[in-house]
Parts: sequence; C-alpha cells; structure tokens
Amino acid sequence: MNTTLSVKLFERACQTIPGGVNSPVRAFRSVGGTPLFISKAKGAYLFDADGNKYIDYISSWGAMILGHAHDSVVKAIQERVAYSTSYGAPTELEVEMAELITGMVPNVDLIRMVSSGTEACMSAIRLARGFTGRNKFIKFEGHYHGHADSFLVKAGSGMATFNIQAVPGVTAGVAQDTLTCPFNDPEAVRLLVKKHHAGIAAIILEPVAGNMGCILPEKGFLEELRSICDEENMLLIFDEVMTGFRLAPGGAQEKLGIRADLVTYGKVIGGGMPVGAFGGRREIMEHLAPQGKVYQAGTLSGNPIAMIAGLTTLRILKENPQIYSELEKKTRYLKEGMEKVLEKKGFPFVINHFGSMISVHFSAQPVRNFATSSASNTERFNEFFHSMLDQGIYLPPSAFESWFLNNALSFRDLDETIEACGN
Ligand SMILES: *Cc1c(COP(=O)(O)O)cnc(C)c1O
Repeated sequence: MNTTLSVKLFERACQTIPGGVNSPVRAFRSVGGTPLFISKAKGAYLFDADGNKYIDYISSWGAMILGHAHDSVVKAIQERVAYSTSYGAPTELEVEMAELITGMVPNVDLIRMVSSGTEACMSAIRLARGFTGRNKFIKFEGHYHGHADSFLVKAGSGMATFNIQAVPGVTAGVAQDTLTCPFNDPEAVRLLVKKHHAGIAAIILEPVAGNMGCILPEKGFLEELRSICDEENMLLIFDEVMTGFRLAPGGAQEKLGIRADLVTYGKVIGGGMPVGAFGGRREIMEHLAPQGKVYQAGTLSGNPIAMIAGLTTLRILKENPQIYSELEKKTRYLKEGMEKVLEKKGFPFVINHFGSMISVHFSAQPVRNFATSSASNTERFNEFFHSMLDQGIYLPPSAFESWFLNNALSFRDLDETIEACGN
C-alpha cells in the first residue's frame, strides 16, 4: 500500500505537535511505522490521505457504533449548526439528553454532561470523595479511566502500550491515594479494604475491561465488589466510557445485572463529538454544585452540536435494539472465523470477546488480568497488525486495546478480515 502522503504528513506533524499526534495511542510507536492520516470515513470504511481504503475496527475507539457519517447524525448536526455552535446557557437539548439517558440506563437518577471520558471519571471520583468524606479509591491494574493525575497509576491503554511505569508530574501525594489491585481477584480487594479500613471512598473499574485488550469479569467478581462496597459504605463506580450504550442500551449494568452507585460515560454517548457524562443515585448526585458543594463545571459542557450528535445516536440505538444482537452476531462470526484461520498457523492465541468488543492476544494461557495480558507475545501482535494493515484492515495499533465493531460492517467485510488473518 502506498502511504507516501501519510508519511509526509507525519513528518510535518512532528515539527509542531509532540510526537506528531494529539493522543498517544494514535501513534504507531509500539507496532512500528508511521500512523495513517485519515481524510474521510463512511460506514465501516476509513480513507487515508493517499486514498487507501480500510475496514475500520477502531470505530473512533468505540464511539462510532453506527458506523461513520451515519446519514441521520450528519443531517442532525448540519441542521443544528446554523443556530450557533455554543451559548454557555441551558438548552432544551440538554434536558432531552438527560431524560433519554435516565430512561435508558438503570440506577441513574441524575446525570451531568461533560466533554470527555476523563472529565467524567475525575468528577465521579471527586464526588465520591465529597460524598463519603474519604480520600482513597481502588482501581485495577491495566484499567484506564482517562488521564487525570490520580488515574495514572498502573493504567492501561497508552500507559501499558508504551510501558510507562510512573508518570513524571503526578505527585507522590496524589498517587498515594490511588490503591491498585489485579482485576478478577476479589481476595486482593478484600485485603486492601481491610488494610485501609474506612479510608476508601470508592472502587472504580471497567466492568468489561477494554484498555488491556478485551478482558471479561469472571463469574461472581462484580457481585463480590458490590457486596464489599455495601459492607464498607464505599461507592461502586462503573466506568462505562467504553461499555455504555455499546453492550446494551443500559450498558454493562444492564447486560451484567449489577447496580453501580455512579456511572461514567463517553465515546458512544457523543456520537463522535467530544462528550462525556457521569450520573448516579439522586442522593449522591445532589452533592454537586450548584445544589451541593462538590464543584464541577465546564464552558462547553452540554454543547448543542455535541448534544444533537449524541441524542441522534442514542435515539437510534433505543429505537433499534436489534442493533445489539446484530453486533453480537457479527462479533461471534468474526471470532469463530479468525479462530479457524489462526489455528492453522500453529502458534498459540486467545480471542476474548464480549458483545461487540473483541481482541486477539498471542498467548498460550487465558488472558484474565493485566499480568496475563502483558505476558502475551506483543512482537507477534505487531507483525499481525502490520500484515492486516497492508491488507486494508485497520486494527488498534496495540495489543493493549480492544477492537470495536460498528454496525455498518457487513458479513463480506468480516469475511475479508478473516481471510486476511490467514495470510
Ligand atoms: C477512553 C476511556 C476513558 C477516557 O475518555 P476520554 O474521552 O479519552 O477522556 C476513560 N475510561 C475508559 C474506560 C475509556 O475507555
């Protein structure tokens, strides 16, 4: 594939943008090579600056669940943009958004919009601390909750990809209030809770992990966390930035049947615009300013263009719940097809999947936490990544990322992808 223009753009980008990218996971640092510069996308396909076409399995890290440039979403944005792009005052759209979300999602009475998943998670932690009067919180190794200081401790996503152990700039004072545990290990959680008795405000986690590849919660694990939180008066925070509106209309809470006290959203909720949100039980959310004293704000929060893109996407998902069964069917088809083809190659691999999230680890042991994910053969993944890219299949450029299916993918696209795995 000829990618001359992307290579040139990357050289140019490196002159004025740190590392040539505005978010580290976009760089091809760990897989090698230079990132593709995208000029447009439609449905399941991306087109780069050189005009090459790719089948997209990143879907803007999950946001584009309906596929790119969905006609209804495009039309809604176009109509709205003529009424100005921002007011800094309330709009009816925000009320419609809040009503739609609280109607779709369990255990969310009140919801506040922000502009990114990072903001949603850092605000949820502040609120949990304000509500409980405790400082510490537990997160899991390899889970990613955005780039706020307190989350950059044993984090997944880019931190795992680039093997960054500690982030200069995050002070020891901040990091000491972040306690970490291996995922799927309830005993480790119990030990931490015992040690820091009554000092822990919350447990935050990705209910289905996606930032160390796709890793499922084992049977009983989430139930155990729920009981620990109930026993210790801690809040259970589900970071549904990836899973929200992707695994089901009500996200992982609905799909897995677990109540969270606070839930964070991003990605799908904005239909491709910069949006995040956090919500939960009324008596907790009422501690937020201006009602309560836990301050949280945003000049562009609830931005009308972002709201109309998100609202249009969520309405389509709500009115067409078959999208979820179609996505699951496609994901299972892809998994089974890839398994058949990869088995012939004679090296060990593990494919984890849940709903429309899926990832391939080159590993001989089950991948169930960060340690087993890190132990997989990343060199083989890098070769696989480039072989797929050369054949027009765009996967996340890291073994520590889930792939996301969008519903514009056809079975023909999936067949093409499966076939490419064999080459
Ligand atoms: C992407 C992601 C975030 C951060 O969201 P941004 O919009 O990138 O700030 C937080 N949590 C999870 C689980 C994510 O996947």
